[in-house]
Amino acid sequence: MEVLRKYASELLEKKAVAAVIGYVRVSDKRTRPAIITNPEDTSSLVFDNYCLNNLSVYLTKARIKALCRTSDKPMKLAITAKPCDVHSIVALIQENQIHRDDIHIISFNCGGVVKDFGLEFSKETLASKCIHCESQKPVYFDKLFGEEKKIPAAEDKQLQKINEIDSMSTEERFEFFKKEFDKCIKCYACRAVCPLCYCQRCITDKTIPCWIESSSHQRGNFSWNIVRAFHLSARCTGCGECERACPMDIPLGLINRTMAIEAKKSFSFVSGRSLEIPTLVGSFDVKDSDELFM
Ligand code: SF4
Ligand code: SF4
Ligand code: SF4
Repeated sequence: MEVLRKYASELLEKKAVAAVIGYVRVSDKRTRPAIITNPEDTSSLVFDNYCLNNLSVYLTKARIKALCRTSDKPMKLAITAKPCDVHSIVALIQENQIHRDDIHIISFNCGGVVKDFGLEFSKETLASKCIHCESQKPVYFDKLFGEEKKIPAAEDKQLQKINEIDSMSTEERFEFFKKEFDKCIKCYACRAVCPLCYCQRCITDKTIPCWIESSSHQRGNFSWNIVRAFHLSARCTGCGECERACPMDIPLGLINRTMAIEAKKSFSFVSGRSLEIPTLVGSFDVKDSDELFM
């Protein structure tokens, strides 16, 4: 922890970065995001199994970006990012929302995080994304801390559920998701935490014409969740933040992961893994399969 604090403090002192986006401890088993601009405040930075938030969501916020323009010359933003959060940064760079040269990535060899704050870290409480994590080391970084760690082996219940839903009839599957989406209260927490939900004006906020009913009603709930799933397909990096933030415990990860599995199977594409491979939705090949979900 000390090496991270010292490193972040030096970056700010040297004015190499305008701010460090990182985690600070709130209590024993809870952290919160912090935007640090004063070198002295880096003494509260932490990185452990309780750093749940995907901080890359802040990289596209106008108020954070404005910090880089407060001195004579534009400065970078430093961000503490788990390897899976680096995937979101890659996706944001590829979608031209941020520039690689403007970001200083501080990452870690990761040993997994808990699914929610307040839980003891163990294989039973491991976040679902960590169970099938294939990149405990970041694909890109400017500074890497920590030794390589082992993630506790745990059952992939999310994949079991996806397979179970896959074996249902179309009607049964429709009923399953109808029941889940009925719980939606349209709080838009899923959108707020998603790094890739960066539109200035979301389709669900448009009233003329009104594409998606804003009230928490079955029709609007269905449209909202399906439209969001489509807008995120082959873009979602699987950070799991939307599902964690949903106050109604809607298993949004089931949809996101299914879409990701399809993108991999049909196009060999996984979002946020490489700056060299063009994004799936941003490139077109006449040879691409058009037989999705048949
Ligand atoms: S998904 Fe991988 S990189 Fe992300 S928190 Fe879990 S173990 Fe770490
Ligand atoms: S849709 Fe959910 S899992 Fe995917 S990138 Fe957004 S917040 Fe993360
Ligand atoms: S976070 Fe959950 S309840 Fe809120 S809008 Fe998203 S799906 Fe609906």
